[in-house]
Amino acid sequence: MFNRHIMSHFLICAGALFLFFVFSLNESVVANASEKYEVISQTLNLRSEPSGTSDIVGQLKKGDQLVSFNEQFGWIQTYYQGEVAWVASYYLAPVQGSLDLNDNTHKDVVTIQRENSIIRSAPSINSQVIGSANIGNEFQVLHKENDWLQIRVNDAETGWIASWLTEKPASQEPNRTQTGHSNNLNGYTIVIDPGHGGRDPGAIGFKHIFEKTIVLQTANKVVAELEQRGAHVVATRNSDVTVTLDERVAIANKQQSDAVISIHYDSSLEPAANGFTTYYYSTPSLPLAESIHASNRSGLPLHDRGIKQVPFKVIRESMAPAILLELGFVSNQHDAQIIVTEQYQDQVAKSIADGIADYIN
Ligand SMILES: [Zn+2]
Repeated sequence: MFNRHIMSHFLICAGALFLFFVFSLNESVVANASEKYEVISQTLNLRSEPSGTSDIVGQLKKGDQLVSFNEQFGWIQTYYQGEVAWVASYYLAPVQGSLDLNDNTHKDVVTIQRENSIIRSAPSINSQVIGSANIGNEFQVLHKENDWLQIRVNDAETGWIASWLTEKPASQEPNRTQTGHSNNLNGYTIVIDPGHGGRDPGAIGFKHIFEKTIVLQTANKVVAELEQRGAHVVATRNSDVTVTLDERVAIANKQQSDAVISIHYDSSLEPAANGFTTYYYSTPSLPLAESIHASNRSGLPLHDRGIKQVPFKVIRESMAPAILLELGFVSNQHDAQIIVTEQYQDQVAKSIADGIADYIN
């Protein structure tokens, strides 16, 4: 009885493995990446999944063209407004002279204009970070999709970057070419994201400190300090209003920014937990995290909890290098007394600005 049970279990597993093998082999043969198609029906729905019953996410008209990135059971996967979308291949005709990834006659070459420009696996801020590029790096452009460029990374790989990363920054350009160390942030755009606000109080700590309140006080000082040093600063909120995470990401990515800094205060059920922490997510954001953390370590009178990698939405979906700062615990008596003071918040503003200057120079 025992043996029979084991055997039937084995057969189910072996069957599943076999199906998986056939399926994955089949997919790799059928998938015809970067083939170009034209819509031949009057209209054609774009859907969220390769199925006629999935959500309609958009509509194409006769003559519209699209590039396929995958093919499954009569459905072709493309990108629409930065999101994955599927169309029924029955209503498509291949376009002559389809894009060939190995064709080096495409001479459209772009030059990266921003440090630590993030390269992603697909034209979407939700897609995986696969690497980064620096000012002066050049890439062949294979395809354009809204505000995204598909570039050749090397012989085997392609990736996507936001097109503005290849555009020369606006008129302030001459100011950015100073040599040596400088506190001057002229010509740089920094996004400051004060966490929480409005209906979302964030953590509530000692003496009813609301995280959203001291976050805003601190962020306002950071904004003032950066502006005083010549930076163009965009804040995701500057009053006690509710801003969703999606809205924060959208505001940050609408700017052609050099850094995104989300400001928070921490909380824990463990009353002894204390100190400040710097979070980053993608590797291109690590140099920014290291510069600001080093500056905070020398400037702030709290315990150093280090630099950690966590996929918080606001930093994960940022096109520019992005970090999230937890600047002390509202739930710790020692920290709480310090972080509410103007003196501490002024020091935070100075430390962050110094850290950005170090990062840029
Ligand atoms: Zn928070």
